[in-house]
Amino acid sequence: MVKLSKSEKMFETARKYLPGGVSSPVRAIKPYPFYTKEASGSHIIDVDGNSYIDYCLAYGPAIFGHAHPLLKEAIEKQLDKGWIYGTPTEIEFSLAERIASLYPSIDMLRFVSTGTEATMSAIRAARGFTGKNKFIKIEGGFHGAHDAVLVKAGSGASTLGKPDSLGIPEDFTKHTLQVPFNDIEAMADLITSNDDIAAVILEPVMGNVGPILPEDGYLQEVRKLTEENNVLLIFDEVITGFRLAMGGAQEYYGVTPDMTTLGKIIGGGLPIGIFGGKREIIEMIAPSGSVYQAGTFSGHPLSIAAGHAAIDIMKAENIHSKLNSTGDMMRSRLSEILDDKKLDYSVSGVSSMFKIFFGENPLNYQDVLKCDKEGYLRFFHRMLDQGIFLPPSQFETNFLSIAHTEDDLERTFEAYEKCLQ
Ligand SMILES: *Cc1c(COP(=O)(O)O)cnc(C)c1O
Repeated sequence: MVKLSKSEKMFETARKYLPGGVSSPVRAIKPYPFYTKEASGSHIIDVDGNSYIDYCLAYGPAIFGHAHPLLKEAIEKQLDKGWIYGTPTEIEFSLAERIASLYPSIDMLRFVSTGTEATMSAIRAARGFTGKNKFIKIEGGFHGAHDAVLVKAGSGASTLGKPDSLGIPEDFTKHTLQVPFNDIEAMADLITSNDDIAAVILEPVMGNVGPILPEDGYLQEVRKLTEENNVLLIFDEVITGFRLAMGGAQEYYGVTPDMTTLGKIIGGGLPIGIFGGKREIIEMIAPSGSVYQAGTFSGHPLSIAAGHAAIDIMKAENIHSKLNSTGDMMRSRLSEILDDKKLDYSVSGVSSMFKIFFGENPLNYQDVLKCDKEGYLRFFHRMLDQGIFLPPSQFETNFLSIAHTEDDLERTFEAYEKCLQ
């Protein structure tokens, strides 16, 4: 058993000042989380001195591992020049130019500080551009923590969205409609029976209850359906952007949405969000248009400098082909382990996203609910004892970084062998 006495004590104090002792709910671990002292490469080290191989990777951003020297250098260089101006900079529009060249769906974009802001603003832009009120999201799809997207799952496609949190008036979610992932008929029924739908927003690979992959042709059919019915298609690529490929899931699957949201990886570990798309849509944003959007920290020089460095490293090291083959290897080794043990669990994933579902490979959110959540949590704790940090929930995706070594992977497989039962 790893010793966590300092973390346990810290939790007692932290919970007096922070709800649940954490700053974001996914970070809560029962009975208490480990508190992190530092992190480097593939390892995260807690205040008790335990070192873990990290497959949580801050829930997605740390694709280079922790404290990558080139990212650090880029941030330090910017620090010397000051780090907040409240005026436009050259590095801002040159990063926009680089992103636009990698994402054919993006002619123009706005920088914001989080993925939440990105999806909130993208939906506002879609409504402003189309003059329509409703939008469709996928059941179990996660687009951050703003009012319109926090709707209850399972209420049926045609009913009005119901808030999934206290503090959100029903009026704020009644324009949010939901359909199951990988169900093109449900989406077609909804779109063709309703003429007030501005947009469909979806994660091309569901990452926050997944990974759940799109079935062959699903994304293409969604593209066709939305196009034919004058509904905008927004790909929320906050996880998949710069992870499945430089050009995200839209490059990987060859489907071009009207708008795209990005975040996580492209800040090099610093806060960032991006929404972009067709010129005529994004030109609607203030000050060039009448869809209002603003932010004190938008285009923060440190995040932008780190974003440039992130693209530089991805290009120089050709990280995606490496990560994709490591991911393939990871998934096939895990499948072998499951076969050996005759466990009817399943391995899911694509590229550097992976996970064992304690149940059948899901096609949608309702399928994930059938998995053994409690069993997964017990497994999570056994892995932590072996020095492997997986996300503490059956719902969260595990990630690979370029910092994971062969030795890390071998140790990880040994731990899976030991802990799966
Ligand atoms: C993480 C995430 C968000 C929210 O991003 P934040 O930076 O946490 O606000 C939105 N969409 C998806 C798909 C995400 O994974």
